[in-house]
Amino acid sequence: MLKYHIDKIPDLRLTEPMVLGLSLSEEIAGAPGVFLERETEAEFREMRGSITGTLGREGTDVMVDVTVSYETPLTCVRCLESFLRKGEVGERTLFFHEKNATADLLERYGPDGWVDLGPWVRELVLTDLPFYPLCDENCKGLCPECGENRNTGRCSCSPEE
Ligand SMILES: [Zn+2]
Ligand SMILES: [Zn+2]
Repeated sequence: MLKYHIDKIPDLRLTEPMVLGLSLSEEIAGAPGVFLERETEAEFREMRGSITGTLGREGTDVMVDVTVSYETPLTCVRCLESFLRKGEVGERTLFFHEKNATADLLERYGPDGWVDLGPWVRELVLTDLPFYPLCDENCKGLCPECGENRNTGRCSCSPEE
């Protein structure tokens, strides 16, 4: 789980940060309420990868430095073929106790002391996914006449140019 209790997070004034090395697919499977909400299920269901980084705190401020490497099948909006998207996204941020944080911030934790990185990692990956996925920038798409994939073969329709 991507949840850490504040009492178990090393205080950087005294010691070294905690090193994170996690399987992204296991975290997704273990936190369906975070990653597999209905509107995002398609993006995460077959995602694989890793989460690496460090975690530490100064007092109640938690410092997170994370890199997510992922690969996931996406569907090209032009030719409708599935392709494997590989990406890597990294960010460092601070999580605050909610008494010190604004209400709409993902990077906060409550009085129970559990720091949940899940929703923040989810946003990190979601914002790294392309809004219009393309298998290739030069994807030729489908023929508007016969529906043939123009990347893989020539259809017999007359060229428009
Ligand atoms: Zn394509
Ligand atoms: Zn055609």
